[in-house]
Amino acid sequence: LAYTGSYTDWTRKAILAEVEKQMKPSRFQHVLRVEACSIELAEKYGASVEACSLAALLHDFSKEHDAKIMKEIVLSQGMDSEMTGYGSEIMHGPVGAYYAETVFGITDEAILDAIRQHTIGGETMSLIGKVLFIADYIESGRTFKGVDEARRLAGISLDEAAYFKIEKTIIHLVKKELPIYPGTIYVYNSWIQRKV
Ligand code: GDP
Ligand code: FE
Ligand code: FE
Ligand code: FE
Repeated sequence: LAYTGSYTDWTRKAILAEVEKQMKPSRFQHVLRVEACSIELAEKYGASVEACSLAALLHDFSKEHDAKIMKEIVLSQGMDSEMTGYGSEIMHGPVGAYYAETVFGITDEAILDAIRQHTIGGETMSLIGKVLFIADYIESGRTFKGVDEARRLAGISLDEAAYFKIEKTIIHLVKKELPIYPGTIYVYNSWIQRKV
C-alpha cells in the first residue's frame, strides 16, 4: 500500500519505522493487525483505505509514552483536564492525535478524530472513526470472550459492532471496579438513546 500524499508527506515505510520506535514489538504487531483489519473494513464499508491505514498505524503512537508528559500535553493543548485523573489509557488517544498532527502533519479531522476517539468511541463517529474503533477491538490477535460475536456483528453493521464494544467496555470496567471516565458514560448514553 503506497500513500498518495493526500494526508501526509511521510511515506508509509517511514511512518512504520517511527511508530515501531515508540513501542514494544508485541504492540507494534498489534498496530499492524489493526491496520490489516481496518483495510478490510474500509473495503467492505466504502471508507478511504489510505485514511483508515494511516489512522490505524498512528492510533497507539502514545500508548507507552510517559504519563507525566501526556498530562502536560493534555493541559497545554486545552484538552479536557478531567482526562488526567483516569490514567494513560484515556489520554493516549487524544495525545496520539496531537502527534499525528504535529509530527506527521495530518490535518484531516476525520483521521484525527478517529485516533482521538479510538479508546472510548464518540457520541458521533465518522466512518473512519468507526472502522478504527472496531478494528482495534476485533483484530486477529484479540482473544477476549465476546470477540467472535464482535467479529460477526462487524460483518453485518459497523454501528451494531460499535454499540457492542461500547456496552461491553462499560460492563468490563464495572466488573473490574475501574473508574469510568465521564466521556465514556456520555458516549454510552448517546449510543443507547439513539438505539431505542
Ligand atoms: P489498546 O490501546 O489497543 O490496548 O486499546 P484501547 O485504546 O481501546 O483501550 C485501552 C484500555 O482502556 C482498554 O483496556 C479499555 O478497557 C480501557 N478503557 C476504556 N474506557 C475506559 C474508562 O472509562 N476508564 C478506564 N479506567 N479505562 C477505560
Ligand atoms: Fe489504544
Ligand atoms: Fe490499539
Ligand atoms: Fe480490558
